[in-house]
Amino acid sequence: MEDRGFDLEDRLEALESAELKRRLSPVDRVAERGYFAPPSGSELPVLDGEEALVFASNNYLGLTDDERVENAARQAASTVGTGAGASRLVTGDTMVHRDLERQLAETKGCDRALAFSSGYAANVGTITALEPDVVFSDEYNHASIVDGCRLAGCETVVYGHCDAASLGAALAERAERASGTDNENESWLIVTDTVFSMDGTVAPLEAICDLAEEYGAWVMVDEAHATGLYVRGGGIVQAEGLEDRVQVQLGTLSKALASQGGYVAGSDALIECLVNDARSFVFSTGLAPTAAAAASEALHLSRHTDVRDRLWENVAHLRDGLETMGFEVLGDSQILPVFVGDRRDALALADGLRERGVVAPAIRTPTVPEGTSRIRVTPMATHDQSDVVACLEAFQAAGQEVGLL
Ligand code: PMP
Repeated sequence: MEDRGFDLEDRLEALESAELKRRLSPVDRVAERGYFAPPSGSELPVLDGEEALVFASNNYLGLTDDERVENAARQAASTVGTGAGASRLVTGDTMVHRDLERQLAETKGCDRALAFSSGYAANVGTITALEPDVVFSDEYNHASIVDGCRLAGCETVVYGHCDAASLGAALAERAERASGTDNENESWLIVTDTVFSMDGTVAPLEAICDLAEEYGAWVMVDEAHATGLYVRGGGIVQAEGLEDRVQVQLGTLSKALASQGGYVAGSDALIECLVNDARSFVFSTGLAPTAAAAASEALHLSRHTDVRDRLWENVAHLRDGLETMGFEVLGDSQILPVFVGDRRDALALADGLRERGVVAPAIRTPTVPEGTSRIRVTPMATHDQSDVVACLEAFQAAGQEVGLL
């Protein structure tokens, strides 16, 4: 008989022999101040049973174990229930969702906002619902943007990372090709992450808005790694005052907002279209009320500058310390990618850090291009000075051991 199945063993062996196989490592976490700690009575392997300082979480404000956020989730569970029970358009719409969306719209300076079950679902649902003819996409945009473009079946023009000149050239070239043809009225969407997860870079948003206006295109931003960290708990759009020039503000509730889920903020018409046409919204159970309530509370807390200030102080201290030591730290945000280059060196450095009680992952191909491996260091607002010093000391010792310093 023919074998029409899938040779998964071969696929896994190929990954293993290329040293590219990834593994889940379950941990029981005591989230306070970013420590992993031995589990109480659990069978899970906990990073060899040792405590470790975690500089590897997107819980940037450290709010996942904030009592007020926990209480908000608990209260939603006891009043509304743990699950939405149906899609929002059927019976899954609750006041908890409406509160979150009202608060998001206010933070983002938009008419309305809509909560999705994840940031991934928000990107895929929004791009497919807009049905753009052409998407201009930064080469390092998140996979959910790439997948949204694929599913939308649009033409995707990839421009150089954070390179407004490259975007300008792509727009000019496309405009010239379209001129005088049936494509003259095609719809164009420029999509970019604002803070890039693996590079810590920040998109040149003002220049992108200038270009969008020159060519009549819309701008859509993914603020997954920025939401909650800038003025009034907003993202880069708020930091740069670009609310009136960005048509689609999207993000996740799962990073600084300490929860799970995604959102889109924009005009009344945009949200109404998404409610009707975003298939990942229409055909998916509403966001769990517990997640919505936790995100609402975290967003509320992120409005206070003192929570955010602590994060930025830790970021400055760590970047400065690493650079003084001689490491090259990429980017311009709270994400501190420490450039290593060779993937084996990056793995050795991550192991060396781990042996000294610091968890920060080696990022290598295919996540980043070959030869640009790095350690992705993410401080949190809840790390204190001594945590940052311990992290720096671990980098100094492990860096010397691997021969990088
Ligand atoms: N966009 C970006 C830039 C992200 O980094 C992520 C999460 N890694 C997502 C979207 C997806 O968000 P979620 O985890 O909520 O699905």
